[in-house]
Amino acid sequence: MSFLSRLSAFVLALTALAPAVAQKAPIRIVADLSDAPRKLYHAEVDLPVTAGPLTLTTPEWIPGHHMPSGPAGNITGVVFTANGKTLAWRRDDVNLFEFHLTIPQGATALHVHLDAIATARLSQKMAALEWEKLLLYPAGIPVRDLAIEPSVKVPAGWGIGTALKPVDAASYPVPAAGSVTRFAVTNVEQLEDSPIITGQYFHEYELAKDVTPKHYIDVVADEPEDAELRPALLAELNNLVREAGAAYGSHHYGVYHFLLTMSDVAGGEGLEHGQSSDNGIGEKDFSDRAHQVHEADLLSHEFTHSWNGKYRRPAKLYQPDFATPQQGELLWVYEGMTQYWGNVLAARADLESQADYREHLALSAASLDSRSGRAWRPTVDTAVAASILRGGNPTWTNWRRSQDYYQEGELLWLDADTLIRQLTSDKKSLNDFAKVFLGKNGDTGAGIVPYTFDEIVKDLNTVVPYDWAKFLHERIYEINPRADLAGIERGGYKLVYKDKPVSHGEPGRGGGELWFSLGARISGDGQIADVRWGGPSDKAKLAPGDKILAVNDRLYSPNALKAAVRAAKTSTEPIRLIVAADSFVRIVPVDYHDGERYPALERVEKTPAVLDAITSPLTKTEKVAESKKDEE
Ligand SMILES: [Zn+2]
Repeated sequence: MSFLSRLSAFVLALTALAPAVAQKAPIRIVADLSDAPRKLYHAEVDLPVTAGPLTLTTPEWIPGHHMPSGPAGNITGVVFTANGKTLAWRRDDVNLFEFHLTIPQGATALHVHLDAIATARLSQKMAALEWEKLLLYPAGIPVRDLAIEPSVKVPAGWGIGTALKPVDAASYPVPAAGSVTRFAVTNVEQLEDSPIITGQYFHEYELAKDVTPKHYIDVVADEPEDAELRPALLAELNNLVREAGAAYGSHHYGVYHFLLTMSDVAGGEGLEHGQSSDNGIGEKDFSDRAHQVHEADLLSHEFTHSWNGKYRRPAKLYQPDFATPQQGELLWVYEGMTQYWGNVLAARADLESQADYREHLALSAASLDSRSGRAWRPTVDTAVAASILRGGNPTWTNWRRSQDYYQEGELLWLDADTLIRQLTSDKKSLNDFAKVFLGKNGDTGAGIVPYTFDEIVKDLNTVVPYDWAKFLHERIYEINPRADLAGIERGGYKLVYKDKPVSHGEPGRGGGELWFSLGARISGDGQIADVRWGGPSDKAKLAPGDKILAVNDRLYSPNALKAAVRAAKTSTEPIRLIVAADSFVRIVPVDYHDGERYPALERVEKTPAVLDAITSPLTKTEKVAESKKDEE
């Protein structure tokens, strides 16, 4: 479908409602989160119906999950009522997301009660509602054509953050005790895309007040002090909003809400939406700059998705309903380019320093370069197979490969950015591509404009003529034994290995940093999580699941193992491990003598520092000084 027909369908559904839809009242759903502390959500759903057979469905393919992860298995307590009578129902034998029932003669309304067991993203003090948990709607109709009026009830005193438009401003963001907050009529597609967070310790901050449209960050935390964001972080988020506008040159939302939960029990999250993002971090992860650096690109990545992934979406990842399988081939654009922009914008906004950016990039490039599975599997296959790689078994990950389209995509788009700069003598960059590709039709409000591979090539050619089809094909669709390091090198740096970790070298991960030397990922207690295929540990026949008990006659500790790796550098003796596998113990000599190796980017003198130009802000940025300790 062309952009214009999609846009008009969307606009009509949101505003006047297309005539065919307008004849029916919208579905009404009241989500009741009052029981969230007991891990139960409730919903009352009212649907306009006519007599005869009816099939209702719950979402299966959740946008952004890249897999059929619909939470139908956690739906419980379903009761259908019409004309005051309870109706019998039957689940579909093949499509387990569907409920079949027969609406009796004379009935024009169906009431459904359902409960959902919530297993993550909530605590005693907060809850996140992604609507797919509670959605039930007629099957076989495009979800953007189904009008729906949502409401929510939350525990007394809890605040609400969402991009949904409240009907009564007085009930938002902190509704009166026991009251229901009603939102304007939308459609099922947009409702699924508009989560709610709620919590006892709630703060809503407006960001970059000079920018139109408006941006907010809504925060809920398990401790009241964590819901108060540091002034320095707020300044950096103001920068982020302005930098995204400067780089992408358009907006595709009426209002944007960063939704942020901070809890050690509610779990991590980073899920993109068109007009908001659902972000979950640990209680203290934004408490100072040193913690922040580990989550530096979370908000910039999910924010970027509003343009790349939500507004611009690979055609085969955009289906008319949540039942049709989504196809992941172009995830190296959807996620890979977002990975690139998320990190670049984090540095431009000063959510992390340029040095932090380079450290992350070095680790990512080195990880990909040592990914042995690249010998058999092209990057595109990690995208095509995304739904079976997501959350998969971590054992032998480097030989299997994982969701490598994220980081491979980051290197690819850095390669493209530096190439454009080189070909145009710095007159153009990937910023210009972003303006063309992500800014189709200018400022639009919420909507979805699908694309194909050919449009990417065409838009790159409008920035600078080049054989972009070949460029992309060679890097993504072919087997490449080495990672794409061209962007780093054109950026004025090279990937090197040092014998000491760079400053943020994954501290606290025990022996995990020996991946680039011993070739094993080892947790603090000696458990081997993964073994690099073809590396020293592989040659010594170590395996994921083995546990190192002792190193050179000392009990295992991360430091004892590192000391042994250092000592082996000047010795011909192998490193001697005592290893447990299942209920057996064996001695394993590891013949490795190259010492510790930690990836870093090293400046190539007398070449232009293009990487530093890329990560420099485009706008005048704000900075709030923090104490010396926090700045380190
Ligand atoms: Zn993403």
